[in-house]
Amino acid sequence: MCGIFGVTHNSRASYLAYLGLHALQHRGEESAGLVSSSGKTCFRAVAQGQVDEGLKPDVLKKLEGDFAIGHVRYSTAGGSLERNIQPLMAFNVPAGEIAIAHNGNIPGYHILRRSYQRKGALFYTESDTEVLLVAIARQMQAGSFRSRFLTPGRFARCVDKALSPIEGAYSLIFLTKDFMAAVRDPDGVRPLALGRLNDGYVLASETNAFDLIGAKFEREIRPGEIFIIPRKGKPQSFFFSNSKLETRNSKLFSCQSCVFELIYFARPDSRVFEKDVYRARWEMGRSLARESPVDDADCVIAIPDSSNVQALGYAHSLSLPLEFGLVRSHYIGRTFIAPGQAIRDFTARLKYNPVRGLLEGKKVVIVDDSIVRGTTSKKIIRLIREAGGAKEIHFRVASPPIIWPCFYGIDMPTRRELIASRRSLEEIRRFLGVESLKYLSLEALVKACGAKNGSFCRACFDGNYKIAAKAVKRILSLEKKR
Ligand code: SF4
Repeated sequence: MCGIFGVTHNSRASYLAYLGLHALQHRGEESAGLVSSSGKTCFRAVAQGQVDEGLKPDVLKKLEGDFAIGHVRYSTAGGSLERNIQPLMAFNVPAGEIAIAHNGNIPGYHILRRSYQRKGALFYTESDTEVLLVAIARQMQAGSFRSRFLTPGRFARCVDKALSPIEGAYSLIFLTKDFMAAVRDPDGVRPLALGRLNDGYVLASETNAFDLIGAKFEREIRPGEIFIIPRKGKPQSFFFSNSKLETRNSKLFSCQSCVFELIYFARPDSRVFEKDVYRARWEMGRSLARESPVDDADCVIAIPDSSNVQALGYAHSLSLPLEFGLVRSHYIGRTFIAPGQAIRDFTARLKYNPVRGLLEGKKVVIVDDSIVRGTTSKKIIRLIREAGGAKEIHFRVASPPIIWPCFYGIDMPTRRELIASRRSLEEIRRFLGVESLKYLSLEALVKACGAKNGSFCRACFDGNYKIAAKAVKRILSLEKKR
């Protein structure tokens, strides 16, 4: 999972992009990068770690220009290596230089990569993003598109020709010396919003990034849309030739937007997929209370911060007090997006501390947004028990059991790692060490997310992979053999 950001026509472009990345930091903490453009050339700075660790003021000063894009990374394809940090760049293409920032994942991109290698392409990184960049760069160099002047229309046709055959999840921002472009895959898996700031435009994975810099949300980039903002002249909107007609008119009935963005990933102060994240989470909590109340409970506690709103919705619906029974250290990143089990185990311990005595003698309901591996939940429950006092602990999960891996940009790589794919409900309850355990139904989840306004990918819950189904099947069968 990653966060992407872009800003145009602003003399403080790289500084604003830096702030934008700050607001999107929760989407990836492994690395951060910026590319700016002055209209003559592009400048790039990337670094491992969080935004303010690597992108210091002296680095920002060197990023000249009034257009800038940025990226925060959590790797799902390609390791945590310096060379995989985005934005990536291609040189000596007809546009001069082109930078790309990608949020999403291309299942089976290795096969595409090998086929380009056979045609003579050289790859510098291990990421799926470079495959997209190479596909587009090759189109730009192809006879029919070759020109010193890469017009928005020509670029849109290049993108269409290059990416239409590639199935996967991609929200992209491109930067050349002449324009910025936003592209969203025809299934609209990952979010990408468009805003205005003074005379310029702003693009961001989530709208909370607009709030920080005082930009005004205008609309979402539509699934299958190629939106180009030239240095001079008005922006132009194009669509993939295989885009679904309904999505052009903003009726999102045939999308595969990631429901997990609303459950966990996006910030509650953001709006994604035409839905307020806060409202969706509140509804999840309310539905969970309706489906799985706990009789005579004394209080509800959330696992902060990602399940705060669901817990509030749950507590409110049952007229129960919401207690801050767990205190979270804000100096530790999100455990779910920390790569590697060893790091996750360690950070879980560092991250939460129960309030001693608060839960003494009480029948407590813990609300969490989801259970992926189950290890963090188990540790938190143990911490609460160790802190003393809770008479009973009932665990409520505001999403269904995650049984299948995600191939579209969220790190749940194998079925073996997913607790619900190998244990029954009762086994999970015993593993966690709680008096009762209940999940939200899939039906209630989709309803809480506003199914009327769009359809969602929910493959990690029901195994119904609608994007790149062949590639996914191949990966799953390989996994089975291991
Ligand atoms: S499989 Fe799950 S996490 Fe992945 S895109 Fe679909 S809903 Fe989101």
